[in-house]
Amino acid sequence: MGLPRQILLLGPPGAGKGTQAKRISQHLNLAYCSTGSILRVEEQRRTSLGEEIHTFLKDGNFVPDALILKIVQNWLQAVRAEFVLDGFPRTLAQGSALDQFLAESHRPAATAVYLDVPMDILEERVAHRVGCDPCGNVWPRETAPVACPECGNAVVSRNDDSIDLYRSRLAEYEKKTLPLLPYYEDGDRLRRISGQGSPDDVFARVLDALAS
Ligand code: ADP
Repeated sequence: MGLPRQILLLGPPGAGKGTQAKRISQHLNLAYCSTGSILRVEEQRRTSLGEEIHTFLKDGNFVPDALILKIVQNWLQAVRAEFVLDGFPRTLAQGSALDQFLAESHRPAATAVYLDVPMDILEERVAHRVGCDPCGNVWPRETAPVACPECGNAVVSRNDDSIDLYRSRLAEYEKKTLPLLPYYEDGDRLRRISGQGSPDDVFARVLDALAS
């Protein structure tokens, strides 16, 4: 049997979901979607939707399920391809809406990869990372290029990576996203791996876990 081709990345902020999701999408030739990148790009455009998104992101809160579901369903309908999702689902309601959407479209259920990383390493990573939206590329500040090699945009740090906002995002994650682990475990659709080590090491584990 081949590797799953509808994949979700789960894990706390800073676990490396974006880095691994990009690698998976390139390796398996899957469409890639980062909901965080989509939200930040819309926020920066200062549209009325962007202003609404800002009211949540500025405090490190999740945006409401209805808002993100509309964005992701539009994306899934537009790409009509197999995918890797980075940052979605983040709540049980999002997870069950995705299952329902895939079932109604006669597509296989998605497989979730959970990246497990201890708290002290997460804070350290987030404090030092810079990146590019909308590409979703992330680097440690020390080794980052000035411009994104994919789109040429400036590589910058994110407003919500300040330590206070990071802790709010982590609290949201613990309250709303952690319950997704038993949800996917029950359907035997969860692959748990350690997210510690180099991106290459983690990617090797991701491929092994997807093959299991
Ligand atoms: P990280 O995983 O480092 O927190 P993301 O770029 O995935 O970063 O997300 C940044 C922020 O965007 C989140 O803290 C949250 O406020 C919002 N967000 C992203 N995806 C979702 C989602 N599926 N549901 C609700 N809010 C989301």
